[in-house]
Amino acid sequence: MNYSSTNYELACNECGKRYGNRPLSACPDCLAPLEIVYDLLSAKGVFTRDSIARGPASIWRYARLLPVPEGFQPDLPVGFTPLIRASRLGARIGASTLYVKNDAVCFPTLSFKDRVVAVALANAQKFGFDTVGCSSTGNLANSVAAQAARLGLKACILVPADLEPAKILNTLVYGARLIRIDGNYDHVNRLSILIADEYNWGFVNVNLRAYYAEGSKTVGYEIAEQLGWRLPDNVVVPMAGGSLIRKIRKAFQELIFLGLVKKPARPVRFFGAQATGCSPISVAVKDGTDDIIPQKPNTIARSLAIGNPADGAAAAKMILVDGGWAEDVSDVEIVSGVQELAETEGIFTETAGGVTTAVTARLYADGRIAPGETTVICITGNGLKTTDALAGCYDHLDARAIRPRLADFDAYLRSLDGEPEPELIATGER
Ligand SMILES: *Cc1c(COP(=O)(O)O)cnc(C)c1O
Ligand SMILES: [Zn+2]
Repeated sequence: MNYSSTNYELACNECGKRYGNRPLSACPDCLAPLEIVYDLLSAKGVFTRDSIARGPASIWRYARLLPVPEGFQPDLPVGFTPLIRASRLGARIGASTLYVKNDAVCFPTLSFKDRVVAVALANAQKFGFDTVGCSSTGNLANSVAAQAARLGLKACILVPADLEPAKILNTLVYGARLIRIDGNYDHVNRLSILIADEYNWGFVNVNLRAYYAEGSKTVGYEIAEQLGWRLPDNVVVPMAGGSLIRKIRKAFQELIFLGLVKKPARPVRFFGAQATGCSPISVAVKDGTDDIIPQKPNTIARSLAIGNPADGAAAAKMILVDGGWAEDVSDVEIVSGVQELAETEGIFTETAGGVTTAVTARLYADGRIAPGETTVICITGNGLKTTDALAGCYDHLDARAIRPRLADFDAYLRSLDGEPEPELIATGER
């Protein structure tokens, strides 16, 4: 298997100037974000459905359209997560053709961040960094810590102090250095920009960001391939910095350009999902603008809690251009969303997935998506990382234990159904 990529390099999003390949945070001339551009034409006829099918069951089957260095030998089977038909959730919310892209089971750390980190660290190695890092709302921290350990790189990770305990533990266990910052994600991010510069470390979402962000395209490639090389009508995507939603669209456009999927009669519509407690992008979309007004986050969906999103303006713009929409939901709705997905489809997602599920229900209820359209919802993280969000939902957790007797079981079952327990009470055996 040849993992070499089509020729690629950094380009400025604003002025278009090219910068080759190196760790660079922004365009030195206009300070705009950088994006990887490819020599797509040279992939025509080479990057085909057949060549992809011969690749491994991981994101590396799409290596030709990822920024991976010459001679790169992938080590980890990241991605290629299940796309499953969600008929029971669909029936509940009035959607007849609904799919879940389930990155709650992404390898190795159970969130879609494993995709972006895999691509970023391939480049960190090539650039010669011995230490990598990130500013993170949780999942990125887990993924950088795990994959750095595997590659023998040192990791230094910065997080907001109020992160969920499971996400802190899931970082420390890999031996990473974890630093809690007294502030929100936007404070953490500003500090990490200074650190990356001062210490010459590879920060995946700072000086490696352009490479990192391309990893998100693989969600789009997989959706298309798993639908039988077809694009859906709609995609519902949770938004933090606004990068994932943009890259899924970029992936679809590349596939259309290369003739791997048919150009749909109507452009795929993108629906962004946020928590009301941190909704700068959805607020902009609802106002019909790409003017992002930063917010101070206050929500249980901590992995989405970026108040000043780096790709917010671009995300709002692309959502509006294709006729999509964005919605946001309250913390109470987020918890219901987590429960609804678990109860209907057997998938336990973290709070971000609760956001996506609840927003999807709202979009169907409001008629923004018609019942018969093909819609994919992106579940991006695992519920075991945010169990504290469900505290108080299940008093069974401290229900009394019964004796190992059938009679006790019968009586207990009746009591759960709201009937009295006559025998136990009569014999005074409690
Ligand atoms: C980071 C993250 C997102 C959103 O990512 P952006 O690309 O920053 O918009 C969505 N879901 C989960 C679980 C995440 O950790
Ligand atoms: Zn520029």
